[in-house]
Amino acid sequence: MRCKTMTLYKEPKSVADLKEWNFDGSSTMQAPGHDSDIFLRPAAIFKDPFRGGRNILVLCECYNNDGTPNATNKRHFAKKAMDLVADQEPWFGLEQEYTLFDADGHPYGWPKQGFPGPQGPYYCGVGAGKVYARDFIEAHYRACLYAGVMISGINAEVMPSQWEFQVGPCTGIDLGDHLWMARFLLLRIGEEWGITVRSARVFLTSLSRANPSPVPSQPSFHPKPLTAGDWNGAGLHSNFSTKDTRTPGIGMKAIEDAIEKMSKRHMEHIAVYGEDNDLRLTGKHETGHISAFSAGVANRGASIRIPRHVAQQGYGYLEDRRPASNADPYEISRIIVETTLIH
Ligand code: ADP
Ligand code: MN
Ligand code: MN
Ligand code: MN
Ligand code: MN
Repeated sequence: MRCKTMTLYKEPKSVADLKEWNFDGSSTMQAPGHDSDIFLRPAAIFKDPFRGGRNILVLCECYNNDGTPNATNKRHFAKKAMDLVADQEPWFGLEQEYTLFDADGHPYGWPKQGFPGPQGPYYCGVGAGKVYARDFIEAHYRACLYAGVMISGINAEVMPSQWEFQVGPCTGIDLGDHLWMARFLLLRIGEEWGITVRSARVFLTSLSRANPSPVPSQPSFHPKPLTAGDWNGAGLHSNFSTKDTRTPGIGMKAIEDAIEKMSKRHMEHIAVYGEDNDLRLTGKHETGHISAFSAGVANRGASIRIPRHVAQQGYGYLEDRRPASNADPYEISRIIVETTLIH
């Protein structure tokens, strides 16, 4: 993610009051040097928890100078899909898992020599040695609430120094906007702790356990930061509902219809569900295998889980457990509505 700042002389009431801006796309690998201007088109406004007062944070879309969306701009197409299905009122609630790393590339708070004890006490853990960096996580939660991000909760995850926050339910395009802003706040607050939410996968082999070497990769929240050892990966479980799935009487049928449609486009979904997801979707560690679609009530080893309480009440939402923690929420929400409501 990138950011820059401008001073305004009049307070904007909405995105329409904000003007288009630009930046040097050759410095961000989004454009060639000889034709480097990328346009920033304001898309959503949040309150600025760092500067406070009347300051704002503006989430922007990137456009090329010929007016086409930049290749990195997935919001453009998600917005088109959401506009087509607005009458269905699609809601999304995403569970963003992520892993904290020290500036030196070591999992945050882990012993520098060796490993923490095996997984078990960390998930929703309480107490020193069981939770890592709670002050940082709390600062992020408060920043999201202040900014107006629809953050719905947080919990410590199965692997030590792995956490989750949930965003939603949000309608349509709002989900991507709010989740990206929550990610921005996480990285931004991490600056003050010297914490990174690393993209790099850290390889720990039995021989080099004390010397993990960070491997540079695309900026992302890596879905399997530790490939050796018995450590859970990180996902972006995507909960989805529509007016029909939320209606008593017909809800369960609508959920089953959506799952049937999703079963036919498994690989198309996997293609936009994040990089290196094959390292995570192994069929172990509470995942379904990447090469096979499956669905079940309360089944955490399936591609799609219908929560127990949804099956009992007969309406509600489904959980797509396939997306990786580094997936783009605009891509996830776009393909889910395309598959279930447009195709
Ligand atoms: P899990 O049991 O899988 O860990 P969480 O409690 O972490 O579930 O997350 C559940 C998510 O489901 C939340 O983000 C919430 O906003 C979302 N959610 C709840 N109801 C709906 C709904 N009707 N449609 C879409 N998302 C929903
Ligand atoms: Mn300059
Ligand atoms: Mn969760
Ligand atoms: Mn989780
Ligand atoms: Mn979940």
